Amino acid sequence: MSVIYERVAFIGLGLIASSMIHAGRRAGVQREIAGTARSALTRTIAREDGLCDIVTETAAEAVAGADLVVLCVPVGAMAEVAREIGPHLKPGCTVSDVGSVKRAVIDAVAPHLPENVHFIPAHPLAGTEHSGPRSGFAELFENRYTLIVPEEDTDPEALVRLKRYWTALGANVEMMDAEHHDLVLMVTSHAPHLIAYTMVGVADDLRRVSDQEVIKYSASGFRDFTRIAASDPTMWRDVFLNNRDATMEILGRFIEELMRLQRAIRKGDGDLLFDYFTRTRAIRRGIIEAGQDTAEPDFGRGAKGGRK
Ligand code: NAP
Repeated sequence: MSVIYERVAFIGLGLIASSMIHAGRRAGVQREIAGTARSALTRTIAREDGLCDIVTETAAEAVAGADLVVLCVPVGAMAEVAREIGPHLKPGCTVSDVGSVKRAVIDAVAPHLPENVHFIPAHPLAGTEHSGPRSGFAELFENRYTLIVPEEDTDPEALVRLKRYWTALGANVEMMDAEHHDLVLMVTSHAPHLIAYTMVGVADDLRRVSDQEVIKYSASGFRDFTRIAASDPTMWRDVFLNNRDATMEILGRFIEELMRLQRAIRKGDGDLLFDYFTRTRAIRRGIIEAGQDTAEPDFGRGAKGGRK
């Protein structure tokens, strides 16, 4: 694989950045990696592990001379980081991000960037419930989609280069506009997380009256919820605060469907329940056939935990 960017800078060195770094090293897509994180502890770990070639104290120092800058911080921290790096970016460089929400990130970041850089947002649809600089692994993006969100006036050459970069990291790359992205992700990722958080919260309440039974007899459905509900609280707080309209839209529909099932159960309408569950089962088969999950009963989990 040939070098795509001479120097890549990562702001934030958690799960996504460290996975990109491992995958990028394996593919040989950059000559030099610079990085920084908010806390001294993360920067020390990154230095000790040799995660980056250069670990800087500030984001402004990290982006100096970089051809690609990737913002890998929680969505709520994007504006602050963009404000800091704006004056220090190399003319002609590409600034991208990996935030789980796109419209809010574009609105937060774009105003702080100079005219002479290319801002091309992106979102890898891959993750685990783990976080931090030691949670990443090179295979995270393999056979998963990365959605790139260009604007109408995005420089075609810069776009092709970013696509090549993500493809080299192992991802299938597709384009999408920001609003559509936020709605699709609300259905496929954000709402399921909210439901898992709620279900685990309900079970936690129950535990108080049922003497640890929920944990003791935890069957696979509930265990899967607890894995999702163990996801990073900062990240998910920011996702919901920054994708409010889509959250409201999908939650409204979810509540309607839940009430439809509630009514069917109350009325003993077995046909409705059977048809409903048959339809959802077909969706699961479609996901497996599309190669986006495994049919194994443990969902193919490895030592690193399940990929989401
Ligand atoms: P993570 O493991 O928690 O890492 C976040 C990193 O951002 C940490 O290194 C943290 O530094 C740093 N950070 C936080 N605030 C900062 C600030 N103000 N300035 C500089 N650095 C800051 O998170 P992640 O899972 O990699 O997520 C990063 C981004 O990827 C988020 O926007 C998230 O929405 C998106 N994403 C996540 C997933 C997923 O499943 N995890 C999937 C796709 C996209 P410290 O370590 O010093 O606190």
